[in-house]
Amino acid sequence: MALSFEQARACVLREVRPLNGTESVAIGEAAGRVTAEDVAADRDYPPFPRSARDGFAVRAADLPGELHVIGEVRAGEHFSGAISTGQAVEIMTGAPVPDGADAVVMIEHTTRNGDRIKIDRTAKPGDNFNPRGVEAHAGDVVLRSGTRLGFAEIAVLAMVGRQCITVHRKPRVAILPTGDEIVEAAEQPQEFQIRNSNAMSLAVQVARAGGLPQVLPIARDTYDSTRALIERGLSADLLLLSGGVSAGKYDLVERVLADLGAEFFFDRVLIQPGQPLVFGSVGSKFFFGLPGNPASTMVTFELFALAAIAILEGCGDTSLPLLRAKLTRDFRHRPGLTRFLPARLSPDGSTVEPETWQGSGDVASLARANAFLVADPDRESYAAGEDIRVMLK
Ligand code: AMP
Ligand code: MG
Repeated sequence: MALSFEQARACVLREVRPLNGTESVAIGEAAGRVTAEDVAADRDYPPFPRSARDGFAVRAADLPGELHVIGEVRAGEHFSGAISTGQAVEIMTGAPVPDGADAVVMIEHTTRNGDRIKIDRTAKPGDNFNPRGVEAHAGDVVLRSGTRLGFAEIAVLAMVGRQCITVHRKPRVAILPTGDEIVEAAEQPQEFQIRNSNAMSLAVQVARAGGLPQVLPIARDTYDSTRALIERGLSADLLLLSGGVSAGKYDLVERVLADLGAEFFFDRVLIQPGQPLVFGSVGSKFFFGLPGNPASTMVTFELFALAAIAILEGCGDTSLPLLRAKLTRDFRHRPGLTRFLPARLSPDGSTVEPETWQGSGDVASLARANAFLVADPDRESYAAGEDIRVMLK
């Protein structure tokens, strides 16, 4: 059955379930992994009222006015006394605000004369410092289970003193190229043969998605070759096939999968590239039959298989990197399909230019692009200067 892009995405997100299995890794090794535990703050953050400015800790009620400077506190120190009416303490960014003070005045707004400072403006309690615990209280969850660890998340782990973190195991993803015309990329192809680029692009995409790619040998367009390799591929957590899912006489993938007892959730999606996309399961294992044209393989991976790998890995975020930009020129397409076409987003992200593209076999066009234009299926034309959806590559 044919589904719209949105229906097919919803189907994948609904059907795929997380795998079992976790391991503990050092935080220096954990980038890109998905957490399998909630992480709590070990103490309040900030752990003390922390000045956000270089200046003077004061009592807001004393301002405007002239104050007596009774000392100094630097980051990494603690001021042992307390501030009384008419007093101030010189303070540095990151230092604890002394007891008795309720605001910090920036140094730029003060005039110093010996141990006195003059401040001509008012201040409000709470100005220019972060009270203890405003970012998190001890025991608060600062990182939810199911979070993919990027630089900021690793910083949180370091901040709360974690050396190790429990993460989900990486899904093993089998990549199975198919086709009598396909030869390994290192081989010299004959005129009518094509190098196996899909296994390479898919391996990169799988690794980038957080999976462990396992590239299988090329299945030939015979029932036995295709079946033997699909059976091997189904021992992984997810099987990605490239090619063999169109309507041709030697497109055997669906027949073999059906004979292996597959349940098919869909076998056509109203998108271009990638219309003959197959998604299903054999027992507890999911598979995608990605159309073999390189652009179709790459795009359908990004649109569907990436989210499946994220879910298998326990990741709660399956959003697509979508944004909007203004077209640099008029754009038309035949309605009915959601199209994902190679494009160049300007450095400031404000405008997008369609790339020249010769169809789903045009790998070089995809390599020139840094994004995809997303053309809606119910809209025939877009004028230059109009907003259009863009997906980052
Ligand atoms: P198919 O989906 O099997 O009909 O293949 C569609 C097109 O994609 C054909 O032109 C194939 O030569 C090409 N193709 C299939 N598999 C690969 C591959 N692994 N690498 C590069 N091109 C491929
Ligand atoms: Mg083929």
